[in-house]
Amino acid sequence: MTDCLFCKIVNNQIPAEKTFEDKNFLAFKDIHPKAPTHILVIPKKHITSLADMHPGDAPLIGQLMHRVALIAEQVGIAEKGYKVVLNIREHGGQVIPHIHVHLLGGKALHWEV
Ligand code: 5GP
Ligand code: ZN
Repeated sequence: MTDCLFCKIVNNQIPAEKTFEDKNFLAFKDIHPKAPTHILVIPKKHITSLADMHPGDAPLIGQLMHRVALIAEQVGIAEKGYKVVLNIREHGGQVIPHIHVHLLGGKALHWEV
């Protein structure tokens, strides 16, 4: 989508500190990190949120979650553990309407809602 911030990062119209990139996925550092490691992992395909995915997107989203686990290994937080967060729509606190997985780690994290 042309006016989507994360699509613009995918298309290199906005710079980002990339951690991983392949044909289908992109990972980059969150601009306002909430933990020592805070990476956003997205599919390059514009899907607005988890609530907006179609049944046909299920393999892609499954691969997205596997990619998150591999990136956690890559950046060295897998052994100690980490948190994965998906914010969905208004009550979920979603600000950017392009599905993204927050990968958080590097210290013990608490779960606040
Ligand atoms: P949400 O609240 O939508 O789940 O999270 C969006 C995340 O994107 C926030 O943690 C925010 O800090 C991050 N973010 C917003 N704009 C940018 C940007 O231009 N670049 C990067 N790298 N992260 C961003
Ligand atoms: Zn998008």
